[in-house]
Order: sequence, then structure tokens, then C-alpha cells
Amino acid sequence: MTYQNYSLAQLQQIDAAHHLHPFTDSKELREAGSRVIAHAQGPYIYDTEGFELLDGMAGLWCVNVGYGRDELAEVAAQQMKELPYYNSFFKCSTPTPILLAKKLAELAPRHINQVFYGSSGSEANDTALRLVRHYWALEGKPEKNRIISRTMAYHGSTVAGTSLGGMAGMHSQLGGAVPNIVHVMMPYAYELKLPGESDHEFGLRAAKAVEDAILEAGADKVAAFIGEPIMGAGGVKIPPESYWPEVQRICRKHDVLLMLDEVITGYGRTGEWFAATTFGIEPDTITTAKALTSGYQPLSALLVGDRIANTLVEKGGEFYHGYTYSGHPVACAVALKNLEIIEREGLVERVKSDTGPYFAKALRERIAPHPLVGEVRSVGLMGAIEIVKEKATRERFSPEGSAAVTVRDHAIAAGLMMRATGDTMILSPPLIWTREIIDMACDRILKALDLAE
Ligand code: PLP
Repeated sequence: MTYQNYSLAQLQQIDAAHHLHPFTDSKELREAGSRVIAHAQGPYIYDTEGFELLDGMAGLWCVNVGYGRDELAEVAAQQMKELPYYNSFFKCSTPTPILLAKKLAELAPRHINQVFYGSSGSEANDTALRLVRHYWALEGKPEKNRIISRTMAYHGSTVAGTSLGGMAGMHSQLGGAVPNIVHVMMPYAYELKLPGESDHEFGLRAAKAVEDAILEAGADKVAAFIGEPIMGAGGVKIPPESYWPEVQRICRKHDVLLMLDEVITGYGRTGEWFAATTFGIEPDTITTAKALTSGYQPLSALLVGDRIANTLVEKGGEFYHGYTYSGHPVACAVALKNLEIIEREGLVERVKSDTGPYFAKALRERIAPHPLVGEVRSVGLMGAIEIVKEKATRERFSPEGSAAVTVRDHAIAAGLMMRATGDTMILSPPLIWTREIIDMACDRILKALDLAE
């Protein structure tokens, strides 16, 4: 690899001079220099100096089958030789997106049988937003175009993704957002539960906020509700059990479409192929990306339920939307092979019946008792650790979440890549993690917590 001709200092200097990073303070980066990850194998990533890190984030919630899978490289190379690119516009197609669509229809909940491809989760959510509005227009209700989302939701970084999302910082920089999107409270019991309120009651109250927003606008003006089954980037916020069934009941009652964003939770993370199954949700659309290819190729798939798809087909008329790389043959070939690996190795079942419960127990028994930990929570292999100053009162260290950043830095030094968001430490490892690796990760987390105390 050509990078080996460069020292780390040279790479950092070139990086600072020419490379604007996503979600990064460029001034700060220039001072600190980036960590340059150069290669990876199995559950480990390595920087240019050879420092080994257990990857607790599967890259960015995506490398579910782990690193170094020769089969994925081989299938990509073979497809590149055979047909590196052709589009699926204008009544054309290529074999791999066709076969992948069939596979996804088999894996998705029964009422979902159609797929629209893009290259990223953000693109897929742009598609979803346009598609639900197009659906209501085809149904003769173009005024039914509002979308309800939640504060702290993350739905991507394009203008539509940012508008759908509920991150204050992103909104403040965006200026004029996509109109007719409203945000209601998130189902985050740890912070928002009232004194004396049970989790169940809190879940119903958070769901009622959705109904209140529908009633305020008028159901004839509301197209859809969008939500991540578990809010990921917002801090792995797992809703109480009462939340999703009630949201679904409310959406059905008011004939509001239900859009699930499973960009993080799709393809096994929660111990089911889709978190829709975990939470018993029957959505009209499911946005997926990331683990669809385990991050080996950029690819997203918006899974479209029969209700919307049937209207598109029956009413006809062009959907004026698509991307050059919709259904990219190489990305789709890699996705097919990636899904085959997940199935062959039983990774979804392993998360459900073995590593997921073991991970939950390890967090509960080993991490939760630490004085700096206010709460641990997880579903499958997706977990969070709340860092607090005062366990009993849940008093935070600082609004900026600097304590979690300190813990994260200690964890990285101890050999575990984690993420900090606000006061929350996040874990979302490759699904190939074993019980032994979970133990090793907990050792490193405890070391980081002790150092931060
Ligand atoms: N939706 C959710 C729930 C996500 O977590 C993300 C990214 O993390 C996105 C959408 C955007 O995906 P992408 O970064 O591929 O555009």
C-alpha cells in the first residue's frame, strides 16, 4: 500500500492540509492530528503505527461480519471485471440488484416486497421522504405531507436527513430546512421520566406526544411518522416496551404512515434481521444501509411496503427521483455475499440467544456498579453506558459531555474503540464478537472508568 511510504506525521500533515473531515472541528483536528487507521482484521483495527484496537463500533455501526473477509473482496473484484457499472434507470437493470431485491424481500417483514437503492442512509431517507409524499399525492391527498420525527433523532446529513433528524446543532447550521417536519419528544426514560412515573407510563406518554402532534396539525395533513427503533447516534436510547405498539396504534388510527429508520439496527444488530421484528412493528418503509454490505461497499436499500408499492404500480406516473449509483452492481454483489455470510455463520441467531444476552449481563453485572455509571442498557449487540457525577441523583458532569469524552479517550488508550455522545458511551461491535471478546472489552471499559474517576 502506498501509505507505507509516508510517516504518520506526514500523513497527518497532508490530512490537515487537504482533507475536511465530516462532523469534525477542523481547527481542533489540525492541532491534534488524526488517528490514521491503516488496516483491520476480524474484530481488530490497527493504526499506521501498528497499535491494535478492539473495534467496539464496527466502524460506524456497519462492519457486522468483521474485517478481512476475502470472500467480499473476491466477489467485488469478480463483479468489477464482469460489469463494474451500469445503471438501473430508463427501464434497464443489472443482475445483482435484481437478485439482492429478491433476497431483501425474503428477509424483510412479510408485507415488504420492494426495494429502492441508494448509496447511503441519508440518501435512502431522502428517498423515503419523497416517496411518502409522492404516495399521498398519488392517493389524491397532496396536502397530507407533514412528517413527525423526534428530538435527538439522527436520519442523516443531507438537507432532508438533517431536517428529518432532531439534532439541534445540525439544525442551527442548516438554516432553511425542508418544510413541514415537526419534532416531538424522544422516548428517553433515563432523562425524561417524571418522578413516580413507571417506564410503561413514560412510554405511553412519549407515544402520546406523537398523537398530540397529529391532532394539532390535523390527521389529513400528516403523511408519516419516522423513527429509529432504537435511537442510535442520539445515544442508544431504547424505548420502553409500551412505546412502539402505542405509536403504531396511533399511526393506524389516524392513517399516518410509519417509517422506520433501521440504518443502524438492520441486518442483525438487535438479534433479529430487523428491529421491526424485535419491537413488533409493521412499518410502511424501512431505511437500511451500513450493515447491508458490512460497510465493504457504500449501499442503501429503502424497503418499501406493499401499501406504498402497490399504489406506485397501480397509479403509475414517473417517480422523478434516483441516483446514478442506485443499484450499483458491485455494491449489490457485495451485499448478497455479506448476507450469505451472516446467514451461514448464524450471526443473527448468535446475537439473539448467546452474545446479546451475555453482553447485557456483562454490562449489568460488571459495568453498572461502577461509581461513574448511572445506567447501562442494551438490545442485542448495541449498548450504552451513561456517565454521571452522582449516581443517586443522576447529576451530570457537564452539559457538553466532556466526562464521556475522557472515558472514551482512556478506553482507546486501553485498546477499545468506543464512541461518546453527550454523557453516553456507546458500543455497537461487529456481530462476530464472542463471549471472550465481550469480557475483554469490559476489562478495558472498567480500566477507562477507573482512570476517569
Ligand atoms: N439514519 C440513521 C439512523 C443513522 O444512524 C445514519 C448514520 O449513522 C443515517 C441515517 C445516515 O446514514 P449515512 O451516514 O450512510 O448517510
